[in-house]
Amino acid sequence: MQAELNPRAGLHADIRAAVRELCGTFGGAYWQEVEAAGGYPEAFVAALTGAGWLTALIPEAYGGGGLTLEEASVILEEINRSGANSGACHAQMYTMGTLLRHGTEAQKQRWLPPLARGELRLQSFAVTEPTAGTDTTRIRTVAQREGDRYLISGQKVWTSRLPHTDLLLLLARTTPLEAVRKRGEGLSVFLLELPPAAEREAAGMSARPIRNMVNHETSEVFFERFAVPAENLIGTEGQGLRCILDGMNAERILIAAECIGDGFWFLERARRYACERVVFERPIGQNQGVQFPIARAYANLLAADLMRYDAAARFDAGQSAGAAANTAKLLAADASWECANVCLQTHGGFGFAAEYDIERKFRETRLYQVAPISTNLILAYLAEHVLGLPRSY
Ligand SMILES: Cc1cc2nc3c(=O)[nH]c(=O)nc-3n(C[C@H](O)[C@H](O)[C@H](O)COP(=O)(O)OP(=O)(O)OC[C@H]3O[C@@H](n4cnc5c(N)ncnc54)[C@H](O)[C@@H]3O)c2cc1C
Repeated sequence: MQAELNPRAGLHADIRAAVRELCGTFGGAYWQEVEAAGGYPEAFVAALTGAGWLTALIPEAYGGGGLTLEEASVILEEINRSGANSGACHAQMYTMGTLLRHGTEAQKQRWLPPLARGELRLQSFAVTEPTAGTDTTRIRTVAQREGDRYLISGQKVWTSRLPHTDLLLLLARTTPLEAVRKRGEGLSVFLLELPPAAEREAAGMSARPIRNMVNHETSEVFFERFAVPAENLIGTEGQGLRCILDGMNAERILIAAECIGDGFWFLERARRYACERVVFERPIGQNQGVQFPIARAYANLLAADLMRYDAAARFDAGQSAGAAANTAKLLAADASWECANVCLQTHGGFGFAAEYDIERKFRETRLYQVAPISTNLILAYLAEHVLGLPRSY
């Protein structure tokens, strides 16, 4: 047996062991079946939910695990490290933050305990729109107040896991862009309790799946005067962008941890194959042309992982974590992508065969360069907010 690649494998060892054990029961064959069927890993997500891992960030007072962000990040790291894909369920963890930080006590009492018990799912958030792109202030979905309810009209895109959620966190304009002082104002967050699928159209909601590179069960969603009780407004009306932005640091750190998990998975596969595969009467890993890229990717992965722990520690200590969280996400996404490339290259043609799982993980880890935030936008954040360079957009 080869040595453990992760020098921090002893950190939160109990969490790692338990998550690894659970994930170990869903091996490559399981993921290949899900992919081939174009399905959703229901059994896997149900097992994680049943074990309480997805509600790790809900405080114990509401029935959750009450873990720190660093501990939660280790859960997602280990999921991806096992060859699985946190993308099937990670939003349950970070979407919760908006409710935790900005929900009233009554809202928390209403939703958090059933979420913690696994009776409700909060798997989806709808921010992105086709015309606005990353410029969230230009979203066109509106929520118009009418008595004790809001009527939502507009279109969202890339709303992931929609068929597998009961609750949907949605950002909409409550005051027109022309009527606000700053363009980030006038947006509000709502927690939608989705009706059963058969009743959605009558309620003013329809969705169309988007076929795409990764299995996120993601959809275009259309709303036409979809009614939401006013009591489902999260935070203050008009201050919704702040509520969403507040959760970004946690999201960045959790995603960085997923990238780190992917990176170790790719490198484990690469080094194993490089030692086993014999071509020209020697293991391919004996060639420096094969081993150096693996070694370099490993070095970059370890450096990114240190940044991830730094960011998590700052976040858990209540310090400002924006620069560290963004840097961690940037470096970890780059590192996992480098590891993916190296792993595929090391496997030659076999890397393209679905039964090796590499091509699936390759596609999955590529997403982190674009979503939930693209690399350029992180660079723009660091340039403007940390380095003091002029705003570029
Ligand atoms: C599989 C998948 C799942 C997703 N799930 C969700 C979800 O559940 N909920 C949700 O709300 N969204 C989701 N998204 C959307 C995702 O967050 C966006 O795709 C992402 O934020 C990028 O936005 P965009 O696609 O509109 O790109 P655009 O904003 O159109 O940008 C296109 C390209 O231009 C670059 N660019 C844009 N502006 C600038 C600038 N000023 N300077 C430099 N470069 C710039 C970007 O970096 C990017 O590379 C998902 C996307 C995918 C692909």
